[in-house]
Amino acid sequence: MQLLDGKTLSVKIENSVMAGVKKFKSDTGLVPGLAVILVGQDPASAAYVNMKKKACDRVGFYSVTHEMPSDISQDAIENTITMMNNNPNINGILIQLPLPPQIDTTKILELVEPSKDVDGFHPYNVGRLSTGLDGFVPCTPLGVMELLLEYNIDVKGKNCVVVGASNIVGKPMAALLLNKDATVEICHIFTDDLKKHTLNADMIFVGVGVINLIKEDMVKDGAIIVDIGISRNEDGRLVGDVDFEKVSKKCSYITPVPGGVGPMTIAMLLSNTLKAAQIQSHKRV
Ligand code: NAD
Repeated sequence: MQLLDGKTLSVKIENSVMAGVKKFKSDTGLVPGLAVILVGQDPASAAYVNMKKKACDRVGFYSVTHEMPSDISQDAIENTITMMNNNPNINGILIQLPLPPQIDTTKILELVEPSKDVDGFHPYNVGRLSTGLDGFVPCTPLGVMELLLEYNIDVKGKNCVVVGASNIVGKPMAALLLNKDATVEICHIFTDDLKKHTLNADMIFVGVGVINLIKEDMVKDGAIIVDIGISRNEDGRLVGDVDFEKVSKKCSYITPVPGGVGPMTIAMLLSNTLKAAQIQSHKRV
């Protein structure tokens, strides 16, 4: 069994983004800028935003976080997004999800200018992904594809089972795999007999948020396992959706949690933001 080491690869990607920022600065005199909107006091969301901000600082981006109270109005968030859409110093806009229940999340995501949609959640970018066109792709599944590429793992013709069907993880993961000619099945909470599907898989991509959902008897020998889930167990440790100890003995490759997909997500956010800055600067010329 070999680990798919996202931590090491994410450092490599950060270094190449850093070099890209230097070149961008010398070519244009500009610095890539990322705006983050954080609504409410959820500690996990605040921690993610803090990690993203630190990563922006490391690679030399300008970044700004708009912190808003949980009882904020729809109009106030929309006004901030419009301001960021019109601000030439901001190349990427990220809305930290989830938003509070009084907020219409779809409307918020649709308001982000597609060329600044570095999370790839705008329907314009979702459509481009599903038709195999270039655009902004959600950072977590994009990070998974980079990880596979780094280890020369080709998905073409492979039976890939994606467990979890959210707009952020499962659906774009499946689209990326399909675009690379994999045979893709998507399973979710209403899937009958999950094991029947996973046992047939050459590769399993699981992003659900249920500790130990994927057990050794659900995985065929030599399968490749990508664990996207992040939960805290009763000891407060970060764990994924896979029973790592037992499953890792059966599979050929597996991502650890932490140190697998998590760091790749942040690396891809940096890479998407640099890409946004480069595209926007060409449009300005
Ligand atoms: P979500 O709640 O939006 O979606 C969960 C999906 O899992 C749904 O499609 C649901 O049908 C499915 N599901 C739930 N229980 C299931 C079960 N018992 N069997 C099969 N399918 C089941 O969650 P999300 O935002 O997609 O996040 C999923 C997980 O991925 C979470 O643990 C989250 O923390 C993690 N995540 C990790 C990263 C990262 O950077 N590694 C990024 C985003 C999300």
